[in-house]
Amino acid sequence: MSLGWSRRAPVDTLVGTETAIEFSIPLADLPRVSHELTSKDGEAKGKVRFSRQQGQAVADLEVSAQPEVVCQRCMQPMRWPVKVKSRVALVSDYDAADRVPDGFEVFLVEADSVSVRDLVDEEVMLALPNVPRHDEDSECARRKVQLPGGADEPEAAPDAQVQKPFAQLGELLKRK
Ligand SMILES: [Zn+2]
Repeated sequence: MSLGWSRRAPVDTLVGTETAIEFSIPLADLPRVSHELTSKDGEAKGKVRFSRQQGQAVADLEVSAQPEVVCQRCMQPMRWPVKVKSRVALVSDYDAADRVPDGFEVFLVEADSVSVRDLVDEEVMLALPNVPRHDEDSECARRKVQLPGGADEPEAAPDAQVQKPFAQLGELLKRK
């Protein structure tokens, strides 16, 4: 079965045929991630393999990327290395999400179909920091210490407070 990263396909088919896909997706083509980035250069690369594990539709996903974000201390662009390997349970509703065994992330599937793009967008989104900053031993951190008066650090820009469905789902499950 031939399938590009942009095409949505039924979860049942992907899982049933144990589809495996290697991808290289321009960050500009990740709908939510691209919205968060100042520069849309770069790609998310990796692979995904669909299967059924413990009765659960699963996507084993590996993604690496170097998105450019803005350091909230010096306001200079910086590369934020993303390298994630996760096991994602594909569920169609909150009840199903409740039954997902420990150790899985949860992805809510719309209309029983999913694209690799959807999964990668979500995964890179989760890996982006709310308040990106250079390392503590960087030039930017050292300069900050020497500032007279100790001016407050700028708050994260409002658009840095991204929507994170996984986190929301976690909250929802806790409330039950
Ligand atoms: Zn900085």
